[in-house]
Amino acid sequence: MTIFPQLVIPDTLAAGPGPGNTDPRVLAAFAASGVADHMQADVIRGMKEIKQMLREMFGTTNAYTYGVAGTGFSGLDCMLSAILPGDTIVAFNNGTFSGIDCQTIRMKASSAEDLAANPVQPQPANVHVIDVPHGTSVTGEMVDAALAEHKPMWAFMAHWETGSGRINDLAGFNDACEKHGALGLIDAVSSLGIADYSIDDYPAVVGWASCPQKGVLGLPLTYAPVSFADAYVDIVNKRGCRTYVNHPVLGARHWGVIDGQDVDAPAYHQTHSCYAVASVHEALRLSLIHGRAQKAADYAFHESILRDAVSAMGCKVTSNMTSLVVMNLPDALAGREKELVQGCRAEGFAIWPTLSEPVQIRIGILNQLSEDAISDIVGRFADAMLKMGANDVNKDAVLGQIRSRFAEAA
Ligand SMILES: *Cc1c(COP(=O)(O)O)cnc(C)c1O
Repeated sequence: MTIFPQLVIPDTLAAGPGPGNTDPRVLAAFAASGVADHMQADVIRGMKEIKQMLREMFGTTNAYTYGVAGTGFSGLDCMLSAILPGDTIVAFNNGTFSGIDCQTIRMKASSAEDLAANPVQPQPANVHVIDVPHGTSVTGEMVDAALAEHKPMWAFMAHWETGSGRINDLAGFNDACEKHGALGLIDAVSSLGIADYSIDDYPAVVGWASCPQKGVLGLPLTYAPVSFADAYVDIVNKRGCRTYVNHPVLGARHWGVIDGQDVDAPAYHQTHSCYAVASVHEALRLSLIHGRAQKAADYAFHESILRDAVSAMGCKVTSNMTSLVVMNLPDALAGREKELVQGCRAEGFAIWPTLSEPVQIRIGILNQLSEDAISDIVGRFADAMLKMGANDVNKDAVLGQIRSRFAEAA
């Protein structure tokens, strides 16, 4: 048997849609955690404090607010598990991630016959997926029209669709759910910790799921934040759902939420990790110290500088999220987006292409909220364009423009 050499993973500049550029203080908290089991007093205290901090991040009094062990899709799996076979649902697809969410929804709403007919991409008649073109936002009017037509039990939308970099209309979604009596479910993976909003302002949305490593700035595979309103919990308590690990009500017990109340003594659900608890605790502390409103304003400011810089280099931006710029190359380089991204990634500059058609470039600024970080990203991107023959790119002028934008704001 071969004994492999010890695995060494290099440091890269994580400038994609997520995972973000993890804060060194979060990594330090992970590495500094002692070895402790999942019922040790400080681990339990950390989990209870995380629960409190998540309520602050989400802007909610929902008792059922906690972390699902895993990645964003673990939290989404938990939230979507309340959908049972035969339930009617309208779901909006405007990019890679809402597309995968719609697949999850079709799986969960399928009968045994639907699954047998197409195990991975079942097409149950009770699920209505509304396909919205890539690069377009879901509007309140679209939601209103679809809910009026189908009168579903549930409605689903991604708040910020990271695949195409588009913000969907949360207020319009909430209003349409209220008007048509649908229970709203939201993928808040990309917006939590970036946008300044309180979920309690959207009472027709009963379930929310986010992720550890985007706006929350924790490590991947730690905790996906979720929050459930009483109306959601009542349905799960009445009808059940087909999961143990990601069960929305059973999972909450280990966070000290039992029968809708915060309790002192949590109940074992699964073996939680002291490292995950320590690092997410630090990530949430850093976010709350920064402040929800200030953080949102800082993202908007830094994104506008990145957007203007790539536009000055001839790129065409089609996104409106504040943590991510999605764009096409100038006409002279059109069609070479993937090649440019691959070249950057090979040099440790980890930007991304879109994962579903059309091919575009995505550059993210998660935890890159400084003049140095934005200048570094733009400088490396300019180098990559120059290397591909974009001779009209004036790197010095673009970097100079960034310097004056920061100087004006100071
Ligand atoms: C990243 C993302 C996901 C998936 O999160 P994972 O952590 O990769 O499981 C789901 N939805 C949206 C909107 C995302 O941006």
